[in-house]
Amino acid sequence: MKAKIARIQIDIDYKCPNCYLHFRLSNSKIPKGKDTTYSCPDCSELLVVPTIFSKTNQASIFKNSPTKNNLPIKNNSDPIKERAKAAIKSQGYTASEATRLINNSYYQGVSITDLIKDAIKNDKRITPNTA
Ligand SMILES: [Zn+2]
Repeated sequence: MKAKIARIQIDIDYKCPNCYLHFRLSNSKIPKGKDTTYSCPDCSELLVVPTIFSKTNQASIFKNSPTKNNLPIKNNSDPIKERAKAAIKSQGYTASEATRLINNSYYQGVSITDLIKDAIKNDKRITPNTA
């Protein structure tokens, strides 16, 4: 099992170059995407607080997806479909025939064996063997 992120806690300590006060920004106070100005709590010097996140880095940190963009995700492509298509193609069908038959027989939750059976059964060009 994989742990889910319940909360991300980030503290960053900064130092005022004027009075050397250390001050801490946490979570939403941390500038994201662009630098932010912040008054030193002690000497009131106006400080530019640099962002540590670019927009994209921030997104990947908070989504916890180090492999982002590595895996192409096709939402409309069910792996069952692809496997059934391959199985049907191995029966001598062309790719476009296999795609058509699978799409005609496919429904959400169908098992791969049912999908293959239905697809071939629905091919009107096949004469049933039953006597
Ligand atoms: Zn200061």
